[in-house]
Parts: sequence; C-alpha cells; structure tokens
Amino acid sequence: MNWITNYVRPRINSLFSRREVPENLWTKCPSCGTMLFHRELADNLNVCTNCDHHLAITPRERFTALFDGGVFREVKVPEPVADPLQFRDQKKYPDRMRAAQKSTGEKEAMLVAEGEIGRTPIIAAGQDFSFMAGSMGMYVGNAIIAAAERAVQTGRPLVLFSAAGGARMQEGILSLMQMPRTTVAVQMLKEANLPYVVVLTHPTTGGVTASYAMLGDVQIAEPNALICFAGPRVIEQTIREKLPEGFQRAEYLLEHGMLDRVTHRKAMKDELVSILRMMTGQPAPTRADLPAPATEPALPEPSPEETAEKAG
Ligand SMILES: [Zn+2]
Repeated sequence: MNWITNYVRPRINSLFSRREVPENLWTKCPSCGTMLFHRELADNLNVCTNCDHHLAITPRERFTALFDGGVFREVKVPEPVADPLQFRDQKKYPDRMRAAQKSTGEKEAMLVAEGEIGRTPIIAAGQDFSFMAGSMGMYVGNAIIAAAERAVQTGRPLVLFSAAGGARMQEGILSLMQMPRTTVAVQMLKEANLPYVVVLTHPTTGGVTASYAMLGDVQIAEPNALICFAGPRVIEQTIREKLPEGFQRAEYLLEHGMLDRVTHRKAMKDELVSILRMMTGQPAPTRADLPAPATEPALPEPSPEETAEKAG
C-alpha cells in the first residue's frame, strides 16, 4: 500500500467513471429492436424512426407537442381522500403512490390542461400509463369531471387521451364507481352540445374502455393500440382458442366498426384541429398551426339586432 493505490488511483477512477454514459440515453424499440437515441425519439414524439412503432408518451410530453407553442395551463383537479380502504398488497397503497409520484414526477395518473390547438381553444385530458398503469381511481374520476366542467364553463370541446390498465384495485369499489361518475360527466358535455373526442392510445383496457373512453362523438386510435375490456390472453385462456391476427388492435377494431379513425401520432394534431373546427362550425384550417379565425378576411360585424336575434 502506498499513496498511489490509496490516493491517486481512486482519483483517476472517479474521473473516468464520471464520463460513463447514463443507460437511459438509448431506448430499444420493442417492435423492431432498433436502438433509438433519446433526443431523436423525443423529437419524433416517441415514435420509432425505423418502424413507426408508437412507444408510450406522457401526457405532459404529448401536451407540449399538441398545444400551440407548447403552451397550456393545467386545470386544477380536486384531491380525493387518500387510501380510503387502507389497502395493502405486497406494499402499502400510500407507498406505491409515493413511488409512482417519485418516478414520474406527476401527482396522479391524469393531467388536465387548457390551451389552443391550431388556434382552436380546447380542454385536454391525458392519462399517464407510467403512473400505476394509468389506473382509474377516484383522482382520475375527479380529473374527468373537472375537465368536463371546465369545458362546459368555457364552451370548449374536450379531447381525451386514454391509456390504462383498468380500474385501480387499491381503491376497490370506489374505483369502479368512477365508471358511472365519468359517464355522467360525458353526458354534461353532450347536454351542452360540446364535442367530446377520444384518442385511444396503447393500451386502453378494463373499466376505462367500459366507460368514458368509448363514449366519444369521434373515436380515434393510435396505430396498433390494444383496446379491449378483457385482454387477449385472458380470452384465449377462457375460450381455449387461438385468436385472429391483430385481435383487439386499433386497425382490427376500425375494420369492425368500433373506431372512426386510426391516426399516426404525428398527424394527430392536424386531424384534431380539422375535426374540432368542423364540429364547432368554424372555417377549415388552411394550415393546422396557423388557421386563426382572426387572420382570415374580417366579416362585417353583425348588427346589434342580429346579435340579439341569435341570443334569443
Ligand atoms: Zn422500431
């Protein structure tokens, strides 16, 4: 032992170890196996640049890409009672929550925001599969109600991006009660004559498919998204038969009349802008990011009598 082994070598080692690349700089595409550089992947909205496979994307990343200039404002969601059943499996429910909050940096499995897409004001709600599999608990129920109420209050359409493993079992029957609650919230939009558009992303399953995710005026899905109540494995084991190719995937469901559209993530914004402008009786966009009604040739202001007539 001398000063070289005790002092110099550790210093040299520490200098070199600092240069090691973090492992999460590269993501392997689960479909084609290509190694994708994280920045390139993020620029491409988490779609594989080689095979077009749609990898998961968080609501925050999605909203940043979706809203004009990446600007949106979060809509406040009322906090439900924490851990009402004092549920415990291998871990306590509050411990699971804390772990999910730490790993995602989000409070819960749904983000509600307001902003403009293609100069069209909307409310958007996005479910976060990375947060406890996007499971629908009381918070998600509250989030959808908050989104619907805000939409009615502001007269804006609601766009919902679903992604969930189903109901949150840690909340038992209380999570199942979110199915009728969210259905009533969707009904509020219909009564206010406001469009409700659902974008189903991979995977949307269980009680979420059985409630708000299937009640849209327009049902869009991302390519190859699994959309089902019970998953293919469960069905296969129950009926003991091989299921057809692509069963319960977006394209299969489109072919069988369960969906209106299957749209690539990168074309989603333009598509939503067109649909929403059409549904709200606004002129069609010429280019999705610049179709401001204000920049179009100004129509003569309606006379006060006309305005009164419309209001009446
Ligand atoms: Zn790929």
